[in-house]
Amino acid sequence: MSEFLNVPEIFGSDVFNEATMRQRLPEAAFTAWKTCVTTGSQLPLDVANDIAEAMKLWAIEKGATHYTHWFQPMTGITAEKHDSFITPTGDGRVIMEFSGKELVRGESDGSSFPNGGLRATFEARGYTAWDPTSSAFVRDGSLYIPTCFFSYNGESLDKKTPLLRSMDEVSREAIRILRLFGDNETKRVIASVGAEQEYFLLPKDLYAQREDLRLTGRTLFGAQPPKGQELDDHYFGIIRTRVSSFMKDLDEQLWRLGVLSKTKHNEGAPCQHEMAPIYTDANTACDDNQLIMAIMKKCAAKHNLVCLLHEKPFAGISGSGKHNNWSLATDSGKNLFSPGKTPSQNARFLVFLAAFIAGVDEYQDFLRCTVASAGNDHRLGANEAPPAIVSVFLGNELNAIIRSVIDDTNYQEPEKAMLRIGVDVLPAIPKDTTDRNRTSPLAFTGNKFELRMLGSSQSIAEPNIALNTIMAEELSRFADVLEQAEDFDKALHDLVRTTFIRHQRILFDGNGYSEDWKREAARRGLSNLASTAECLPALVSEKNVDLVVRHGIYTETEFRARYAIHLEAYNKIVGIEARTMVDMAVHQILPAAIHYTKDLCDALNAKKSVGASCRAESVLIRHLSTNTEALYDAIDTLRQHLEKIPKEAVEAAKYYHDTILPGMNAIRSAADMLEILTDKSYWPYPTYSDLLYY
Ligand code: ADP
Ligand code: MG
Repeated sequence: MSEFLNVPEIFGSDVFNEATMRQRLPEAAFTAWKTCVTTGSQLPLDVANDIAEAMKLWAIEKGATHYTHWFQPMTGITAEKHDSFITPTGDGRVIMEFSGKELVRGESDGSSFPNGGLRATFEARGYTAWDPTSSAFVRDGSLYIPTCFFSYNGESLDKKTPLLRSMDEVSREAIRILRLFGDNETKRVIASVGAEQEYFLLPKDLYAQREDLRLTGRTLFGAQPPKGQELDDHYFGIIRTRVSSFMKDLDEQLWRLGVLSKTKHNEGAPCQHEMAPIYTDANTACDDNQLIMAIMKKCAAKHNLVCLLHEKPFAGISGSGKHNNWSLATDSGKNLFSPGKTPSQNARFLVFLAAFIAGVDEYQDFLRCTVASAGNDHRLGANEAPPAIVSVFLGNELNAIIRSVIDDTNYQEPEKAMLRIGVDVLPAIPKDTTDRNRTSPLAFTGNKFELRMLGSSQSIAEPNIALNTIMAEELSRFADVLEQAEDFDKALHDLVRTTFIRHQRILFDGNGYSEDWKREAARRGLSNLASTAECLPALVSEKNVDLVVRHGIYTETEFRARYAIHLEAYNKIVGIEARTMVDMAVHQILPAAIHYTKDLCDALNAKKSVGASCRAESVLIRHLSTNTEALYDAIDTLRQHLEKIPKEAVEAAKYYHDTILPGMNAIRSAADMLEILTDKSYWPYPTYSDLLYY
């Protein structure tokens, strides 16, 4: 079965990347495109026409008959509408055409994407515009053109546009700092991202038998299986054949699309796996992560599997997250979070580190909000994923350095002066000395920060927008101070030192899962926004609105639209889950329990008539009846609660969290008890054992 796969040859073969463009475009068009990408200038129409023609010919050779503007609406997934290349010639035949205009601009049908009130009804059209910094590709017979999505008034309706804006901002402000350190070459600083993706794979036939999985992506019912994760026998374990052929297929498809798929392994929970690509710029990483999620789902189906990207498919079993590795690098590849070898590189490193720490501390609520969702609420703070409290882990070595910077009150003391952050004096910081503290939500791992709060199904755009923007903000404040300084070394030292002093409360290296930390964090005044309903209103605080507007990431209207959509999504998801529960409980679980009870009663009567003992039957019947009644009451209560959802979104979110979720828990505990009591042949859907140990 081991066919040879020439990876270097197939890699990127379905992508209209720079190499292909150089080969296929007229030289002038290639140069014009390159200029447009590096300077952000507009693409002239004649150049667009040349590119469109070359793209079309290339795509047709790859089997494409259609093209689509591919965009990332605020649903968090991608959208596409396919148009064929055909143009009638007037004599009953067609030719294949694709113009520069069609490449650079499209119009999207209807107004069925969430817009948070951004699109007035009289102008409900949305427009898409090619993002020439990310490459077009061919997939399933269509040429995919990555685009930005915006309204008639030019307001952004997507996740890509603000991400691109935030990348520009952080680049501009980082360059101001670099100039102060004598770097006059760097033209662009790139936010780099590597997102590790966790997922579950289940057999398709079992999945199809569960309405909760089909409608909500997670199990709403299910008693704990006799075996959970206690043996730790899945993590990095041998990959079963069906899964390994899925992974092989997935890699091949991703490589063809130029996605740098690097690592694959089994994760902690049964049926859970992970894939990680090599990092790229944040925009590409975000496009790629969307492709990864979409292709995982499609590829799984081909192998008679279903890929679950939900944050918590199974209660009591680890959920899935997405580790977002983030750093900044210059266009010549210098990582700005890499502690350098020379004092000057170290001073630069400490400036970027200080800015990061300050930004995370000041905007902890903003960062927290970007990862809030109904699904992720089951993970964060649930002792398997980082807490909902944002903190930064640095490791012993870096903490010691920060400590000595902070304690350096007396410049006269020779041994202390050694640690003065001048460009001239500073000891080398050893590289990659960090421990691996898995309980930290945001850990420094040698030359990058790993944000571990993101849920597996979420778009990585928003947290990266936040990271880029808060970094841009702090760097710009730093640059304002340093650019004016008469004594640069002294100003630098004072700035870094005061920043560490002011924001050290965000640093925490201990066990993030512990109750002690919750108390300690409260003492330090860190925010602990435990649920989506609780945290979302903080997103649009004056401070956060001011931040994103001042940096041109969102207009206030755009930002408030995101907030409205975010809130609405939470309310809708919990509503769907609650109604699915009621539906399954009424139509599947209650009847199953009642049938079984009836048959037990028949058995009991039959046994009684011959004088046999019926103790087991009668105890079982009693337990079944008690739990059947509990289930019935819980259904009734939840139904009544569902009639009274408040109209206003913030109130509704609070109501879903405080009233509907506990109501759902009550249904579940009665139903799961019935599952434990009932003969398996009566049970209406596959159990946790069936699903997880197929
Ligand atoms: P882990 O042990 O958590 O799997 P790895 O070192 O394997 O960590 O890296 C995880 C991810 O981090 C990969 O996607 C990798 O490409 C990415 N990564 C490595 N260096 C950087 C960097 N400088 N910036 C952003 N991401 C990075
Ligand atoms: Mg990781």
